Amino acid sequence: MSFPIVRHRRLRQSANIRSLVRETVLTVDDFIQPIFVAYGTGVKKEIPSMPGVYHFSLDTLEQEVKEIVELGIKAVLLFGIPETKDAIGSSGFAEDGIVQEATRVIKKLYPDLLVVADTCLCEFTDHGHCGMVHTYERDGHVCGDVMNDESLELLARTAVSQARAGADIIAPSNMMDGFVQAIRAALDENGFSHIPIMSYSVKYASAFYGPFRDAADSAPQFGDRKTYQMDPANVREALREAESDVLEGADMLMVKPALAFMDVIRLVRDQFDLPLVAYNVSGEYSMVKAAAQQGWINEQAIVTEMLLGMKRAGADMIITYFSKDMARWLREA
Ligand SMILES: [Zn+2]
Repeated sequence: MSFPIVRHRRLRQSANIRSLVRETVLTVDDFIQPIFVAYGTGVKKEIPSMPGVYHFSLDTLEQEVKEIVELGIKAVLLFGIPETKDAIGSSGFAEDGIVQEATRVIKKLYPDLLVVADTCLCEFTDHGHCGMVHTYERDGHVCGDVMNDESLELLARTAVSQARAGADIIAPSNMMDGFVQAIRAALDENGFSHIPIMSYSVKYASAFYGPFRDAADSAPQFGDRKTYQMDPANVREALREAESDVLEGADMLMVKPALAFMDVIRLVRDQFDLPLVAYNVSGEYSMVKAAAQQGWINEQAIVTEMLLGMKRAGADMIITYFSKDMARWLREA
């Protein structure tokens, strides 16, 4: 059947009928708010390339988390800015590390708020790589290889210390081979078999992370992350990455970034039945903020459409710096 019998516009003629036939909806339950925590007191420092996103010290964190809880957001993702960095990222797995301390502060105030701990070393290593490196000089330049198996033990220690501090979900983002298995085994051995792993399964080596590296001061000091993060040109490889994580015991899968990788979100959704997370990354956030500040776009409409697109592509939940904004907009709607 076709026109004039079929008229698609019949189901679009009022707001109410449109909402009746709407296929995808955003709710506050979909969002995870990332938070950057740093040392000091009274710190609420805006990240220049990410307007509206701040570094918080443990005392100012309280007010921020209060707002997040009041908006109905159920989960936060913690990133830490340490006081000191070293070759193995030891402040990442210290019992009194900044992420561990922030976790304790949050869980004491709001036991029900889910704390997701990002498990990586790049914020804590002086070289800015996600694992241990073997360095050498070539033609006067410092070069280095990230050592996979040696890094797994440090990542597992980091995950256990985060769980011990009270983290509800461990989210390893390092992209070493075998990281889910190593972390699962370490959690289980230490009495945390109930703690789920949200694996950054499909993480691309992306230019969209630029503003985050300002925020976390985690740009690699030499080389890049292309030997462990994925080539943006590849999608079959994404399925192999996700499959490894499923076999190693991941409880949730993730695709990062989101906006330029909607096809990957859809494909992972169709091939695997684990809950799927999309990470709406810093560069995706900053582009919208910059254009909105210029008055070139309608921020609320653009953000809503982007996040709706991620969910329509197959994401069950979205890590986004817009979580608080979106929660407010949904409440006003
Ligand atoms: Zn990393």
